[in-house]
Amino acid sequence: MAKAYVFRHSEIYISYETVEDHDAALQAFEAAYRKTHSDIDAIDAGSEDEKAILAVYKAMLEDPDYLLLIRSNIKDKGYNAAWAVEAATDKYVSLLERVNDDFFKERIADLRDISGRIISEISAEERRDITVPYPAVLVADYLLPSEIISMDLSCVKGLCLDKGGVTSHVAILARSLGIPSVFALGDLSADVSDGDLIALDGKAGTVAVNPDRKMKAMYRKKLDKQIRAEASLENGAGEPAVTADGFEVSLMGNIEGPEGIESLIKAGADGIGLFRTEFLMMLPEYADKEKRTAVYRETVERMSPYGPVTFRTYDIGGDKVPKEMKIEEENPILGWRAVRLCMEMKDLFRDQLISILKASAGYKDVRLMFPMVSGSEELKSVIAFLDEVKDECRKKGIEFAEDIKIGTMIEIPSAAITADVIAKYVDFMSIGTNDLIQYTIAVDRSNEKISYLYRPLHPAVLRLLWHVAESAHKNGIPVSMCGEMAGYPDYLPILIGMGIDELSMASSSIMEARRRIRKLSRSSCASFVNHVLSLPDAQEIERALKEFNSKHGKA
Ligand code: PEP
Ligand code: MG
Repeated sequence: MAKAYVFRHSEIYISYETVEDHDAALQAFEAAYRKTHSDIDAIDAGSEDEKAILAVYKAMLEDPDYLLLIRSNIKDKGYNAAWAVEAATDKYVSLLERVNDDFFKERIADLRDISGRIISEISAEERRDITVPYPAVLVADYLLPSEIISMDLSCVKGLCLDKGGVTSHVAILARSLGIPSVFALGDLSADVSDGDLIALDGKAGTVAVNPDRKMKAMYRKKLDKQIRAEASLENGAGEPAVTADGFEVSLMGNIEGPEGIESLIKAGADGIGLFRTEFLMMLPEYADKEKRTAVYRETVERMSPYGPVTFRTYDIGGDKVPKEMKIEEENPILGWRAVRLCMEMKDLFRDQLISILKASAGYKDVRLMFPMVSGSEELKSVIAFLDEVKDECRKKGIEFAEDIKIGTMIEIPSAAITADVIAKYVDFMSIGTNDLIQYTIAVDRSNEKISYLYRPLHPAVLRLLWHVAESAHKNGIPVSMCGEMAGYPDYLPILIGMGIDELSMASSSIMEARRRIRKLSRSSCASFVNHVLSLPDAQEIERALKEFNSKHGKA
């Protein structure tokens, strides 16, 4: 429970401060102007009406007096670029308002549209940093992974976003940072003001704005209950995660950077099942590859007493693009990303592989894992590249663990379906359910509008999981799961029943997973999975699982 601090990207941001550097402001305007002009030129007008409208837009955009006024607002008055455009537009609007002619009055909206485009181009370049100035629940329209990773979170007590899904990268980051969050809240950020009191329950997904006394008491009670439950879980931190009939599961952690290590050790994690290395690439302090090498090494040094450390090579692209890398694609989630990008940006990839290899020197259980592999052909080519890099290291005398384990994520349906082939080339496979579900059901994991379709228990997903687990075991290799599905304890009977050997999750989920696993029996989970695989749809499977959980150890 804390006060709200509201941040909306969608509002065009104009500061009313003059600037010293007139040339820089002029350049910002000219660049935004050129971009707007070329965007308008690129519009393919179909009908005669559309053509006429575009002709008016162009005439306005090229009006020499309008442009003169904007430039003089910058040069003579010292206005910043966005302010200069707004002030010139206001002047024109007030002139048009005075004209007694409907045609001219109707042009006001067109002029606002054009100036809005120029101003948003300018403010896109001057994107505000998000700074939460007092201890608050940050209420925003959305957040980008690059924003959450680079902001100062010391005052962020909770997060409420209008958009986003529970397996979006922002949700994953918030979870691993231990920030209670609720997403997909419609237009909340437009309805809340700075200073409103917000109570939120990230587990239940509920938010109350300016709760009354009764409601506040209810949230406090929930919080007390949670604190007590967490304290009792800590008592079990030293116990192994083993079912009543002796099936032991490794409970590992997912991290995005070194700050995640401490809480994994506290939770009693059996290693790191997923280090999302691309997130460090978004932080300017890790721009230097030597710094990244040092972090990898430090991670291995600190975590290897507890278990393996799994480095996933850069999953750059999609929604995770470092600022200085401009990737513009129609469909980035299906586009140039992860190993597809790394195999073209070979210097970047080589540097990372060398960093990981160096981090492995002298350690037994360092693992290297490739993301977004679509099939054995692609996998073989990345392994061949790794072999070249290993050779290079040997020649240069760079030490590394010769027996470093090589694995691949299974997060694309084509990889899952051919897991029996893929398993022959790797030491382990790790299922990334976040993407696997997204691609199998064709449901964007970050889009709250269709989140009702995002069903981990869809029979198509379960059949894929089953096939991957069986393929791994037939080939004598372990299978892990590092997508968010692994961290939801209600799914454990299915995962244990399929024989998933390792589960990797946010540190906050580990203790509860351990407690629940100790109450389950592998054999009853296995028969349950047999039954579930015969059910026709997600709804029936969800119902069956609920029943199973209430009978077997949910308490
Ligand atoms: C996944 O897709 O399940 C996964 C673990 O990778 P990420 O969430 O980083 O895409
Ligand atoms: Mg993924």
